[in-house]
Amino acid sequence: MAERFFHEGDLIGVLTTQPLDRLLDYTAPEGGCFTGAFVEVPLGPRKVMGVVWGSGLGDYDRAKVRAAIRVLDAAPLDAGMREFLERAAAYTLTPMPAMLRLATRAPGLGEPPAMRRIYRPGDVQPERMTDARRRVLEVVEEHGGLAFTLGELAELAGVTSSVVKGLAKLGALREEEAPRDGPYPRLDPVRPGKALTADQQAAATVLREAVRGGAYGATLLRGVTGSGKTEVYLEAVAECLAQGRQALVLLPEIALSAEFLARVEARFGARPAEWHSGVTQTERRRAWHMVGTGGAQMVVGARSALFLPFRDLGLIVVDEEHDSSYKQEDGVLYNARDMAVLRAHLGGGQVVLASATPSLESWANVEAGKYARLDLTDRFGSAVMPKIATIDMRAEELPSGKWISPTLARAVEARLERGEQALLFLNRRGYAPVTLCRACGHQIGCDECDARMVEHRFLKRLMCHQCGATKPIPQVCPACGAEDRLAPIGPGVERLEEEAAARFPGARIAVLSSDLYGTARELKAQIEAIAGGAADLIIGTQLVAKGHNFPLLTLVGVIDADLGLQGSDLRAAERTFQLMRQVSGRAGRVEVPGAALLQTFQPEHPVIRAILAGDEEGFWDAEAANRKEAGVPPYGRMAGIILSGPEVGPVFDVGNALARKDGPLRRVGAEVFGPAPAPIARIRGRHRVRLLVKAGKGVPLQPAIADWVAQVRLPANLRLTVDIDPQSFF
Ligand code: ADP
Ligand code: ZN
Repeated sequence: MAERFFHEGDLIGVLTTQPLDRLLDYTAPEGGCFTGAFVEVPLGPRKVMGVVWGSGLGDYDRAKVRAAIRVLDAAPLDAGMREFLERAAAYTLTPMPAMLRLATRAPGLGEPPAMRRIYRPGDVQPERMTDARRRVLEVVEEHGGLAFTLGELAELAGVTSSVVKGLAKLGALREEEAPRDGPYPRLDPVRPGKALTADQQAAATVLREAVRGGAYGATLLRGVTGSGKTEVYLEAVAECLAQGRQALVLLPEIALSAEFLARVEARFGARPAEWHSGVTQTERRRAWHMVGTGGAQMVVGARSALFLPFRDLGLIVVDEEHDSSYKQEDGVLYNARDMAVLRAHLGGGQVVLASATPSLESWANVEAGKYARLDLTDRFGSAVMPKIATIDMRAEELPSGKWISPTLARAVEARLERGEQALLFLNRRGYAPVTLCRACGHQIGCDECDARMVEHRFLKRLMCHQCGATKPIPQVCPACGAEDRLAPIGPGVERLEEEAAARFPGARIAVLSSDLYGTARELKAQIEAIAGGAADLIIGTQLVAKGHNFPLLTLVGVIDADLGLQGSDLRAAERTFQLMRQVSGRAGRVEVPGAALLQTFQPEHPVIRAILAGDEEGFWDAEAANRKEAGVPPYGRMAGIILSGPEVGPVFDVGNALARKDGPLRRVGAEVFGPAPAPIARIRGRHRVRLLVKAGKGVPLQPAIADWVAQVRLPANLRLTVDIDPQSFF
């Protein structure tokens, strides 16, 4: 689509990241500019960044309109990207400036890039050629015009940096200063991948053809853990790169992507760009710029990578598409899976949603004919799905304060004797979820939140999992003053480790919980060591369910399979089903068949029964029927409104006013429930009140909600957030 050109002095409308609810009028800077250009504009006494969104509105005194200062050195936001931001804003009811902030999260965006030292091929052949030297020279030759930093080159060639420096000294490599925002090493899409099984090949062929078609399409790629989904979607990536378009792979838990990056490198000969919270500011900037110019062919990232200004995005893979972390829960409340579909739709690209346990939403979209579906039925090689069985906790002899049943303990011992790995899964960080006074029954809570404090024994502190506040573990009950009567109640992974250490002396035990590692790097290293056999018994939270391979693991023991079944969350059954299947799927990946044992007090619960039977279709049919009956997502629409403020009274007043003025909602057939205290009624000292809006499937809910909430004026210290398609109900 041709962009419009504005000559110097023409009126332009500029979108900035400042919280203003309109485009600002300026005149085009010297040299003119196209729509989509990044510009620097004066705003009051400051200079801010903005994007030329179109012509100016012209409703502002022309004499006062100021000139844009300059066009910034960044690839313009093309029409597709601008439309994506507008549609995403309209869907999530987010103001455009916040949307633009999400799309420009790279530091010093308009500044000239910092420089770095790089290495290119020189014109001298070293006299003495070693293996190491040859590898370095091969790498620079192989990548032709590309330049590498010392670290990159040493890593790619698998040599120490002194080898590279030595070659530079001899003149066999040339050292230069170059901008840091350089292109990434080329990925080679024609390198052969692994030989695929018939199943995998069939799926890969369909995806390759879809990508080659160059138009929008969405596919649910379904297959048990280990069936080769990654192998298959990398074929789609290869096709996309071969077409000269860009590919984006979204992963839920980026801390675990080391293994994935290594696989990409093995497949395409180089690493992709990365985009997640662990990436340095410099790399962030580089990725942002290179995505816009085409210097990055592939990005592996967390959900926000979806808002990078890709030049030509041909494929988006959403791996583990059911994962709830795709929903951003603060700031702009969006679901990256749904926004990925929107983006591909607008940009003429393919979306692949991969999962062993798809969300009911995706399931329903397949049923409705909106998504294609591909199934991988077997695990790769001889590995089979583990046998899943329950341990009926009502029949087990277990002293209080202990959680590993005799049956589970025997199964673990058998593995340890055979030199295999076992995993005990408990989705609770810390030592104990509750600290109770045995004298008065008081439970220690957070001062700022309506939440109990969780004991973290490694840190020797109590911590609030809502706001992160910590305090020392008191000696004396803060309520009744009794001394030494405070006791930990219930298990967390730290406490389970204590029990396991006593129960299985001699076993090497490792705890995998996100809070126990300072950095993502440490965590990655630990996971790799464990996968390699550095532990006999793994004790882990949800972290271990997400995509990492533990080849030696043959037993998974789920400490509390009932944990997710309680509560009023409409997705409780779905989440438990998915999590239990994912965790069970960790066992028996290679030659040795695995087993999963689920400790439960309700073995006859329909969800537990469906997990045991491995009857996925049956579970989803039943779950779909329940939700249809209740008219809830994906068969109806929902939105959550959270009001919060320092005093509970005024918050409820606004909530009541909204409930009374429900005309705009009723006009489209939507209903409002509440106000009621939110399930977590206070966070960080702010009282929270919730309203829920429910409507039929086809209802245009967003404009109605926008009209509805616009009727009340919010006091300054009160905040209103609208959460379209809420995922969690806190
Ligand atoms: P999923 O993404 O479904 O969990 P993966 O693609 O990670 O499955 O495959 C599981 C394991 O099996 C990986 O180690 C992968 O490299 C291996 N694998 C899968 N398919 C093949 C194949 N056709 N040839 C060789 N190895 C394969
Ligand atoms: Zn708190």
